[in-house]
Formats: sequence, structure tokens, C-alpha cells
Amino acid sequence: MRLFVYILFGIFTLNSTYLLAATPQQSTSGLHLDWLDQNVKPEQNFFAFANGTWCKQNPIPAAYSSWSVFAALQEKNLQVIHQIIKTIAKNPTYKPGTIDQKVGDFYYSGMNTAAIDKLGATPLQPEFLRIENIKQFPDLQHEIAHLQLLGIDAPFGFGQMQDFKDSSQVIGAAEQGGLGLPDRDYYLKKDKKFAEIRHAYVAHIIRMLKLLGDKPENATRAAQTIMHMETAFAEASISRIEARDPHAIYHLMNLAQLQQATPNFNWQTFFTDLGHAEIKQINLSTPKFFNFLNTQLKNISLADWKVYLRWHLIHTTASLLSKPFVDENFSMAKKLSGAQKLLPRWRRVVNEEDSALGFAIGKLYVEKMFPPSSKKAVRDILVNIRSALRKDLQTLPWMTPATRQAALKKLDLMEERIGYPDKWRDYSALQIDRGSYVLNVMRASEFLTRYELNKIGKPVDKNEWSMLPQQVNAYYDPSRNNLNMPAGILQPPFFDPKASAAVNYGAIGFVMGHEMTHAFDDEGAQFDGYGNLQNWWTAEDLKKFQSATNCIANHFSQYEENGMHVQGKLVTGEATADLGGLTLAFNAFHASSDYAKAKTVNGFSPEQQFFLGAAHVWALNIRPEEARRLIITDPHPPALYRINGTFANMPQFQVAFNILNNGPMANQDRCVIW
Ligand SMILES: [Zn+2]
Repeated sequence: MRLFVYILFGIFTLNSTYLLAATPQQSTSGLHLDWLDQNVKPEQNFFAFANGTWCKQNPIPAAYSSWSVFAALQEKNLQVIHQIIKTIAKNPTYKPGTIDQKVGDFYYSGMNTAAIDKLGATPLQPEFLRIENIKQFPDLQHEIAHLQLLGIDAPFGFGQMQDFKDSSQVIGAAEQGGLGLPDRDYYLKKDKKFAEIRHAYVAHIIRMLKLLGDKPENATRAAQTIMHMETAFAEASISRIEARDPHAIYHLMNLAQLQQATPNFNWQTFFTDLGHAEIKQINLSTPKFFNFLNTQLKNISLADWKVYLRWHLIHTTASLLSKPFVDENFSMAKKLSGAQKLLPRWRRVVNEEDSALGFAIGKLYVEKMFPPSSKKAVRDILVNIRSALRKDLQTLPWMTPATRQAALKKLDLMEERIGYPDKWRDYSALQIDRGSYVLNVMRASEFLTRYELNKIGKPVDKNEWSMLPQQVNAYYDPSRNNLNMPAGILQPPFFDPKASAAVNYGAIGFVMGHEMTHAFDDEGAQFDGYGNLQNWWTAEDLKKFQSATNCIANHFSQYEENGMHVQGKLVTGEATADLGGLTLAFNAFHASSDYAKAKTVNGFSPEQQFFLGAAHVWALNIRPEEARRLIITDPHPPALYRINGTFANMPQFQVAFNILNNGPMANQDRCVIW
């Protein structure tokens, strides 16, 4: 668990991507003129102007909940990874214990549907038996710990984090959890759509338990118990908006304090069960939730707890079992995402394998796909963006000297990393074979959990990455004050050595500026240059800064998608990073030597190319179910407003496209970050 790492986008992790037809036709400038919709005026809706034809020509494939330029690139990476894995899997003679043996056997076991279908849920029998054998309260505690090791976070999550107050150290952290639906709002919201989803969820639990052989009346009773317990956990949870305040989720406690907070749960025993008897303090991130859990541990019967844990075991693993379980699992997933069809089998297996053996696959990926020359070209842009931010910090009129010094220091201490980690992860303790697929995934999950838990109580390993090199994404980590650009995103249309500088600054420059600005958004600004949660602002400056981020929250709250309002307070950090980031990228482009040489292309000035390049990378179509899920759970604004909302606050954009000051693409009360 990493509380607080800012990723560039959070959309496509649940049910991502695929369509070969989306491979863009590209001009040498990097501009996609064939994506434009000339029937829309830039001043009405720039997103639709820049991407309208792309949107029409790229409908969402049946197996997807959304389709986008991001997704098409991710799909391309996945095809590369699939080829690598498939080639290895064809050869069954690798020496046991080697990475090739593991990569090949994992894929083989996942694709062996004959064996998977024959086994049904039987590989899980030892796990069901463990739950069945819970006879007294201490057994329940042991089982909760055991399931945590397998990656089943019921009824709460436990992992590691950098100590907010001492960023050199890793501590344990327990956080609220225990839900089967994507967020507490799915249990609490009154409107009809959410009531329908709750109804569907209960019916889904009943069908799944019947697949396990339960009698209909028992399955029905169990489903009601589960829904009742999860709803109570949802009510005891804090909201995503509340959880954006680092102080609200940081409560460092020693053993005595933990015992006092939850007398019914023995933390020392729990740590021992996890293999870490030495843990003496953790962050009990949401005390209100644990306080409630404490009462539930004794108020709810052991029989009901067993029903609940058994559900979470099958809920987490159903997609890895025989066809009836996979289909039943998908019947619920499609209600949440809107996808119409299951992804192809190979696609699901490669996704699982990418999580299980991610850095092993990442190493194979970069050897094939990321030449050292890419690193230099990308670093040149990054250097210019950093200078643009430095200049802004030096000249911001409202900042007092003390805050300015601290801000510049934070920027100087910020580390930037491009491509992939210097040191690769060691998978030798993980056993993978050509037997049961679900057991391979569960062993991998336990391996990863133990890997994370082993960090607790130790100094932070500065070389580690929180994102796989093959991912099409980027992140800023406030506890380490570092900015990370994985190899996966450093290719067209984000970065293309052959494209015009204007387009590269608009696309990858925007991404870099976005991540850099996270160091100074409403959350990131609370951490100092060493990654410690410590205020470095004077009171007067902080007030001015907060009024800038409040402006953004108010502005984005006005936007709507699918009849739901954007949660301005949830997206403040990301919308701030977008506005600050695009401004930095624009200023860096203007200051670069490339700008002096920039030419008009197809009638578009360099400035116009910059904004088109930025808008192109967010081209997207999305289903209403998925849009709803993201409005509830995603701290990023919808793609449409990442472009239109951001651009509406930029006078540079209004000048570039002659936008009048009274339309939807010009925010009257302009918000300013840099
Ligand atoms: Zn972000």
C-alpha cells in the first residue's frame, strides 16, 4: 500500500484497453489533423475540435469500459509483452527457478483452460477448510492475517508506507477496507443507479455461493449478512475527499495505543502472524473505522464472520477459476464498468502476469523497447521544464521571500528518474509452475505482500520504483520528492523524436509539468523537500495559495458528466497539476532553443500545435457506468475537462486561438497556479 503517490491517470487499471485499428496515422509534425472535427469551433469545445473525428472513428470495443489514446498505446505495449511471454512459454525446458521458467509457466498455467475448467474451485479447498475450521475468536484473527498475506484485504488493509513525519523510514499502516464494491459511496448513495447496483451485487453473491454448492436459502441468507456487514463498514469509512488530507490519515501508534484503540484485536498476535513480531508501531490511518471494527469483532457472530471471509476469498479469486466462476464474476464487473464482453483470455492472463512478475517482465520489455538515446532526448525537455518552474518560483509576485526560499529548495531536492530502475527485483523466492493457475496467482500475491511487509522498520530504499517500466503512466511521490517517467509512456503520441518540438512539449512536456506541479499542489505542498509532512509556508502565503486551489475546486465543481457533478474537492490536486503543468510546459517551450526554429504546420502556429498536442493525448470515449465509477473514485477530472477546464484558465491558449473572453473556453474568474 502506498498512501499518496500521484499517478498521471487512474482510469485504465480496472478494465483496460485494446484496439489495433487505433494505431494513429501520423504526419511528421506529430500533429493528428485527421483527428480534428472542423465542424466544432475551438472556442466552443476544444476537446471536441481536437479529437472529434478520433472519437467518432474509435468506438469503444465491446470488452472495454472506455477507449482512448492512452489505451491504444497501452495495448501496443501489451502486445509486445504478450509476444515476449508467449515465445518463452513455448519452451518448457528452462531450468527450474529461472525467470524464464517462471514467466513461461505462469502463462502456460493461465492459458490451460482444459485443466482450469476441470478443477473448478477445488484448488481453493484448503483455504475454504481453514475458514470452516474457525472455532473461536483467536482463530478468526489468525485467519484475517493469513488472508492478508494472500492479498485479501478483509475487513481492512495492511501494508507499508514511508513515515509522513520521518520520510527516511518505512512504517506499517492499517487502513479502512473490507468492501466488495468499488467505494463506500456505492453503499451509501441514495439515487436509483446505485440502488440498482446494490441489488445486483446481492444477486451476484447468491449466484456465486450457489456455484460453490450452497443451498439457495443458505446463499440468500449469506448474501444478506455480507451486504449488511459491508454497508456498516462503508458507513464507518471516511470519504475520498476527507482522505486527501494527509493529517486525517496519519495516526502513528505504538502497541499500547493500538491495544487501547481496538481492545478486541490483538495487534502483537497479528504482526506475529504476518511474520513480523518485531513491529512496535504503525499508522492506524483511520481510527474511526477501526473503532467500529473493534465493536463488530465481538458483536458479529463467528458464523457470520466465516460467511464474510469465505465471500471475500471467492470474490477475489473467481476470475482465475473455471468458466462458470469467470462468467459470474464478469456479470457483476460489467454492471460496474459497462463493458459488454470479456477480454480475450490471453489478455486477462497477461494482465495478471504483469502484476505478478511485473519487474521481471519490465526488464525484458526495456531490453527490447527502450534504447538509451530516448533517455537523453526526454531529459532535455525535463531540464527545460524544471528551469521554467524555477523561474516562476523566483518571480511569483505574491510569494514572500521565506516561502520562496523553501519552495526553491524543494525543487532543487526533487529527483527525476527516467525509464526504469537501476536495480531489478529478485523473484527467486517465488514458486511458479505449470499446475494450478489460481495457486500461481495466490503464491505471487503472497510473495508481493511479504516483499512489501519486509520493508517495515527499515530505511527507505531510494532506488525503488512504485510503477512498472512498461506502464503508460507517470508519477510523483511526495514522500520521496521524486518524479518518475517510466519507459512505457516515452513513445508516440506522448513523445516522438520525429515530431515537432511544439507537439512534444504539449504532450510529454505537459505530463512532466503535471508531475512536477504535484510537489506544489494542495496536498503535495504540505511535504517538504525531504518528503516530510511539515509546513514550510508562511501563514500569509499559505492563505493565498489555498485561495488559488479553492478557485480550481470551485471551477471544476461546475462541470457535469452523465448527470453527475465533478467533485471539485476530490479533483483539486490533479486539476492543479494539470493547470500548473501545462503552463510550465508552455513556458519551457517558449524559452527553448527549439521555439526559435519552430514553424507553422498546415496553418497551425507553433502555439496552436502545442495545445493540439496536449489535447490529442487525452482523446477518449467512455461508457456511462465507467464515467460514474470514476466521478466517485478517481481524483482526476474527466478527460474532457482535463483539457477544456485547464485550457479555459490559460490566457496563452486564448491568445493562440483568438478565443473571446465570454465563452465556455475562457473562465471568467481565471484560476492561476504559476
Ligand atoms: Zn497527477
